[in-house]
Amino acid sequence: MSDIVLKNAEEIELMRESALIVSKTLGMLAGEIKPGVTTLYLDGLAERFIRDHGAEPGFLGLYDFPNTLCMSPNAQVVHGIPNATPLEEGDIISIDCGALKNGFYGDHAFTFAVGNIDPETEKLLTVSKASLYKGIEQFRTGKRVGDLAHAIQSHCEKEGYGVVRELVGHGLGRTMHEAPEIPNYGRRGWGKKFIEGMVIAIEPMINQGTKRIKQLDDGWTILTADGKPSAHFEHNVALVDGKPELLSTFQYIYDALGIESEEETPFRKVRLAV
Ligand code: MG
Ligand code: MG
Repeated sequence: MSDIVLKNAEEIELMRESALIVSKTLGMLAGEIKPGVTTLYLDGLAERFIRDHGAEPGFLGLYDFPNTLCMSPNAQVVHGIPNATPLEEGDIISIDCGALKNGFYGDHAFTFAVGNIDPETEKLLTVSKASLYKGIEQFRTGKRVGDLAHAIQSHCEKEGYGVVRELVGHGLGRTMHEAPEIPNYGRRGWGKKFIEGMVIAIEPMINQGTKRIKQLDDGWTILTADGKPSAHFEHNVALVDGKPELLSTFQYIYDALGIESEEETPFRKVRLAV
């Protein structure tokens, strides 16, 4: 990977705009996810929504990916390709979405429940999402990549979950994947120091069972080696005034689903006009 590209205040505002288009896309999808709906249908909705907001889908054509969304149900970890199989009651579906506007990418992800899911899977989602905020908390001047990585890893491993090793978060900007790599496992005090103006995508990929993964012969889909479910949550975060500032938000999802949450409040300077 190349050198870290720091962003100034103006660039961070443009990145917020791109991130919020992805956030709104996920919020729109939240209202559409139900048993019987196909991931290909949702993909079409997302592409239209992104274009209607003056942006381009960030994943479509990137490394030759064929669609707007990565759609990874149940045992799929990430990079699933949308298809015509209907979602079923009790499934979970990880949706990763990217948008490009004003030359900057937004890139974040959420794992949704389809109807009612079993309590064990619900817990996987709760713990995985909480680990994302544990990681974000460490994105401060003077801390290092290993501090963030360790916070995510320890939060998930104490529940017995598998933390995927082969896939990692990343710097974000005019390209989708910039330096540094942001793994979800690591040792405190190790790795690159965080500095003002960094913008990163933090994205724990957490398996209910083994951390081991395999890949389908479609060349994309990553799934758990033991067939147990996997969760993926991703936020885009800028380092401003020494502290983490969220550029993306799950608030549109929560509004669509009628969920009350204060989880983002510590990491947000301005209140969102929803
Ligand atoms: Mg992503
Ligand atoms: Mg990413």
